[in-house]
Amino acid sequence: MKGFKVTSEVANIKKVELHQHVDGSIPIDVTWRLMKKHGLNPVETKKEMEKLLVLQDGEEGALLRYLDKFHYPQWITQFYDNIASVIESIIAEAYENNVRLLELRYAPIIHTFAGLTLRQSISSVLSGMNKAMKKFPDMALGLIVIAMRHQGPHIAKILARQAISESQLLHGRSGVIGFDLAGAERGNPARLFGEAYEIARTGGLQLTIHAGEDEDSQAIWESIDILGATRIGHGCSAVKDKVLLKRLARDQIMIECCYTSNYQTGAVSLGEPHPILTFLENGVPVSICTDNTTVSATSQNIENAKLMQWLTPEELSSIHKKSEKHSFIHKTGKPRMLREKPMRKAGEKRLGLP
Ligand SMILES: [Zn+2]
Repeated sequence: MKGFKVTSEVANIKKVELHQHVDGSIPIDVTWRLMKKHGLNPVETKKEMEKLLVLQDGEEGALLRYLDKFHYPQWITQFYDNIASVIESIIAEAYENNVRLLELRYAPIIHTFAGLTLRQSISSVLSGMNKAMKKFPDMALGLIVIAMRHQGPHIAKILARQAISESQLLHGRSGVIGFDLAGAERGNPARLFGEAYEIARTGGLQLTIHAGEDEDSQAIWESIDILGATRIGHGCSAVKDKVLLKRLARDQIMIECCYTSNYQTGAVSLGEPHPILTFLENGVPVSICTDNTTVSATSQNIENAKLMQWLTPEELSSIHKKSEKHSFIHKTGKPRMLREKPMRKAGEKRLGLP
């Protein structure tokens, strides 16, 4: 990548990826091959296709322009085998970056337009993961199911139930480990999604949420106090709220930091320091994540290489080791029906500082 040399020190760091979207991470070669195979290519050459899939110079700074890069991959990921196959390719690419624990995330409902059921849409991803696990037995894999904010709280509840049915807890191999909310934050506040999060938690899934990317810190407060999220995707606006920083540190709520993506979407303005540095100074746990390797033209190696401006390889390695403790893989809770005691309600005993 231009200007950022991936040294062997960076390449050798054993990495943990906790925030990577399937749709924005399909290798260009794979999208192109599948588009050609199905006669769906909107342009004649792979080079031209690349411009449609990867954020270009001059396109940075707006979330909606960033999200616009996601519609072409969805032309091909409406079919079971295609989905399983793109998952294998994303995992292989992560493995090459020395990622040994990978949580992928995916919104199943936007992969049902050609007739897949929600359940099939989820199991196609797990099928790809199970195949990859045979190739890379030293890799831990899991899926986070995303509900899209703009589709509303009712659809989110349906998705939470579908996610539970494919949870890692109920299956021997890979499975759904967590629940997430993504999409436009403005006009779709987190507080409306409390019931969906309660269903997911009751079913044993761990909880994360995209928050504070396009909204102020109130969105993050709602995410932890009302939804009970234990990890926050992006969380950039938290740096402007000192009380919230203390709360995140006290409860060890992890921020999934996506350096490159945050500048591209405008969550962090160009020229401003990245919030990851403030989080580290304040004792807030962070993870180093790619968000979307294809759209953002990045990789785990590149993200770590960029952070070498401020952090040593030892510090980067330590962040990855600590991130492993916040992974949802193999940590899904027991569903309520199997629990001896009822679980605390989302938000209970969590409000306020000590
Ligand atoms: Zn994301």
